[in-house]
This record gives sequence, structure tokens and C-alpha cells, in this order.
Amino acid sequence: MKADILAFGAHPDDTELGCSGTLASLVKQGQTVVVADLTRGEMGSRGTAEIRLQEAQKAADIIGLADRVNLGLPDTQLENTREFQIPIIEVVRRYKPHICILPAPADRHPDHGNASALLIDAIFYSGLVKIETKDSDRKLQDIHRPSHIIHYMQDRPFEPDFIFDITGTLETKEKAIKAFATQFNVADPGDEPETYISDPSFFDSLRARAKHLGHLAGFEYGEAFQYASSPFPARNLDFLMGTSPKR
Ligand SMILES: [Zn+2]
Repeated sequence: MKADILAFGAHPDDTELGCSGTLASLVKQGQTVVVADLTRGEMGSRGTAEIRLQEAQKAADIIGLADRVNLGLPDTQLENTREFQIPIIEVVRRYKPHICILPAPADRHPDHGNASALLIDAIFYSGLVKIETKDSDRKLQDIHRPSHIIHYMQDRPFEPDFIFDITGTLETKEKAIKAFATQFNVADPGDEPETYISDPSFFDSLRARAKHLGHLAGFEYGEAFQYASSPFPARNLDFLMGTSPKR
């Protein structure tokens, strides 16, 4: 299967929090969207790796992903090594995406920045013929490098290069996040610890962030992105013709 968009997260739920409004909108527009989670989030304070995998599949169905894979790298130990680059190269060569969407270059959780650096290098090496990888049939994979790489905003804000309109998919995004029932919106934390994200008020700040980002671009709700493979190439200005933010 070839994907138009391949989005990565360090942990299952990272893409839901950072860019699932955008992913759901792209699916609605007919694009093939795949998510690859680098780790199973096994070091998270709440839930188990097994439950989080089930939650991730449920969220994938809500967003309308064509596929979702988990690379099983070790949570909290993401290092930029050849050993960890190889499974990423395999997944990039398998789906041959036009656009890759990556975690924020730096963030509150160190795994997010570490994942980003690991992914940037792995995606580059995916285009090198002398780095050989095999698909599940043990056939040599063709090289592939996506045409564009963008980063989604996570916990810490950055100066966005563009804001994507998620007004029509904010509800889908919130539903997909709530599919991670052990992590978010936990009214009764039970025996497990309350965390930064388990308190129901976390959703207020998520929506406030989407509202603020939307406001900056003239939408009701938005998600922010940085263009990694800058400068931004253009042959027409169609993407500006369709929007009219208040200036
Ligand atoms: Zn994360």
C-alpha cells in the first residue's frame, strides 16, 4: 500500500494530540493516511502497552487511517542509532509517502525531540541505495525519500510556518484522543497515578490551544506545523487563494 501521508509519533497518542484534526481532514479529502508509532508507550504512568495498542487501533478507526503500525522501539530510550533507524527506513520504503509528518523538534517530553532527530536522519538514509532493507517477503526494498517533511506542535509552542484548519474535524480529534481511555479524561484515577494529561481539565487547554491557533490564521480551530525541509517550494499560490484571515 502506498500512503500519501505517513505521520510518526514517539508514543501512541502523540499524533492524536498533535495532528489528528489535520489527518482526519486529509482522510475526508481522499488522501491515504498511515500512522507509525515508534514505541508502545510502555513507560507511561497509566495503562499497559497492550491496552494502549488497542486504544491506538480504536483511535485509528475514528480518524479513518488506512493503516497504523507500531515499531516497538524502547520507550524513553530513543537514540539516533542505525539499529533504530532501520525499522523507520523499512516503514518509509514500504509506504512511500509524499509527505512525512514528524513530532516537534523539541518538546517537554525528551522522547519527542529525540524521535524527531532520529526520524529526520532515518528518512534521509531511506534514500540511500547502499542501506539495504527487506520487506516482509524478504524482497529487497526500493529506496524512497518523501518530498516534504513537516513537524506538528506538541506541548511546547513554536513559531508555526502554517496553521491547518481543523474546524470541521475538532470533534473527531477529541473523540480519537478519548479512545486512549487510560490516559485522558480520567474522572476517577483509581489505583493508578494522576498525570499531567489524565485530569479532565487537560481537554480545556487542548481546545484553547486549537482555538488560539485557529484565531491566528482566521479559522475557528487550528493545528500548527513547521516546514522542516525549508524553503517551501511553490508553483502557484492556490493555497493562499482559498483562505482570507483577518489581518
Ligand atoms: Zn509522547
